Amino acid sequence: MTTTTPPPHPVLQASGVRAGYGGRTILHSLDLQVHAGEIYALLGANGAGKTTTLSLFLGFVQPGAGRLRVADADPASDPAAARRQIAYIPESVALYEHLSARENLAYLLALAEQPAPQATIDAALTAAGLDAAAHGRRVSGFSKGMRQKVAIALALARHVPALLLDEPTSGLDPQATAEFHRLLGVLRDQGVAILMVTHDLLSAADIADRIGFIGAGRLAEEVAATGAERFDVRALHRRYAQEAAV
Ligand code: ATP
Repeated sequence: MTTTTPPPHPVLQASGVRAGYGGRTILHSLDLQVHAGEIYALLGANGAGKTTTLSLFLGFVQPGAGRLRVADADPASDPAAARRQIAYIPESVALYEHLSARENLAYLLALAEQPAPQATIDAALTAAGLDAAAHGRRVSGFSKGMRQKVAIALALARHVPALLLDEPTSGLDPQATAEFHRLLGVLRDQGVAILMVTHDLLSAADIADRIGFIGAGRLAEEVAATGAERFDVRALHRRYAQEAAV
């Protein structure tokens, strides 16, 4: 008798989700799964509902129909439980400007009810690629890339199963983008399920294991990385332009 290994239980799952704002439906029936140790890039035209998808997993938007899961939590009925499983990096990382990177991390970990000693905090900042000299500096002078490193350090220190990112590479130079990809790779290797919303097709093609196109209120197409080339970027670009033109 042959046995097949069942696919791993997805960490992030949306099944038949309908959602919108004030009677206007944005997502008609969204089906999406992101597994542990996977980077999933969600692309789509402006207003397609990408950020709304993140807000659904975070429990900030209630679905009108369908089912959502974040690990074993249901963000619709218990948003706090879902958020405990998630690290979220918005386009602009909000930090306490008058505090240092180290103090920000200590405070944010305490808020998450996961206080950590300074050695753990410094180790997380270092693992996120922030130079030791910057650990004690006020974050008010930090670049977008450095702010993201503080946010990634928070994700590393919290050991969450899911990471959500909104437009993480917009405004990053190529070197900062490459460093950011390296960090996402570290989190993927630790088994984190990563969902990133982006317009940056090249970044998605570089780092994602799967790319999904959202359009007309649903997941219109999914492409998985294969072989050394991973993705046919020209074909992806044609697909993306077609979605944006709808
Ligand atoms: P973009 O690529 O421009 O960021 P998106 O795919 O992330 O777009 P969403 O931010 O999810 O799109 O927005 C989807 C639609 O819902 C848009 O038409 C937007 O104006 C609308 N929308 C988003 N948030 C709200 C809100 N809080 N109240 C009312 N309408 C909203």
